Amino acid sequence: TGDMLRSAMQRRTELGRRVTPIVDSGSLVPDDLMIELIRERLGQADADAGFVLDGFPRTTRQADALDAMLDEIGRGLSIVFEFQLPDAIARERLRRRSELEGRADDTPEAITKRLALYHEQTEPLVGHYRLRGNLVGIHADRSIDEVFSEVQDALEQVASRA
Ligand code: AMP
Repeated sequence: TGDMLRSAMQRRTELGRRVTPIVDSGSLVPDDLMIELIRERLGQADADAGFVLDGFPRTTRQADALDAMLDEIGRGLSIVFEFQLPDAIARERLRRRSELEGRADDTPEAITKRLALYHEQTEPLVGHYRLRGNLVGIHADRSIDEVFSEVQDALEQVASRA
C-alpha cells in the first residue's frame, strides 16, 4: 500500500495530492481511503489467482473491513506474517535507507511517529490474526537471505496443507 500511495503521489493524482502531507509526516492515511484503495485493487483481474497484501491492514478498522471484504468474495487469508524486529534495529535500517532513497518519511521525526503508530494501532492486529490461527512470526533481525528462507518455508507449509 505504501508503494501504491507513493505512485499516486508522484503522479500527482487527486489521491496523491491529498495523502502527500500525511504520508510525508509519518501519519496514517484515513481508514476509509485505504479500504477503498484495497477494495478496488482486489477487484482487478490479476488478484483472482491470489494476492499478497503488504502494508495493509494497519488498524483494527482496516482489519475488520478486510474480513468483511474477503467474506463477500468468499476468500480467506492463507497466512499472515508478523516481521518481528526491535525498534532500535528498525531505526538503524531506516536511517541507512534514508541515505539510499531519501524518502521524506525516513526523517528521525517521521520514523518516531511511524514506530509509535505501529505499536499503538498495528501491533494489536497480531492478536486478531493469532486468534484466527493463521499468524506466523518471522525473526526479521537477521540477514535478507535468512528472512527470505523463513518466509519461503512457511509458504511451502501452507501450500502442502492446501
Ligand atoms: P510503507 O511504505 O508501508 O512504509 O508506508 C508508507 C506510508 O504510507 C505510511 O507511513 C502511511 O502514511 C501510508 N500507509 C501505507 N499503508 C497504509 C495503511 N494500510 N493505512 C494507513 N496508511 C498507510
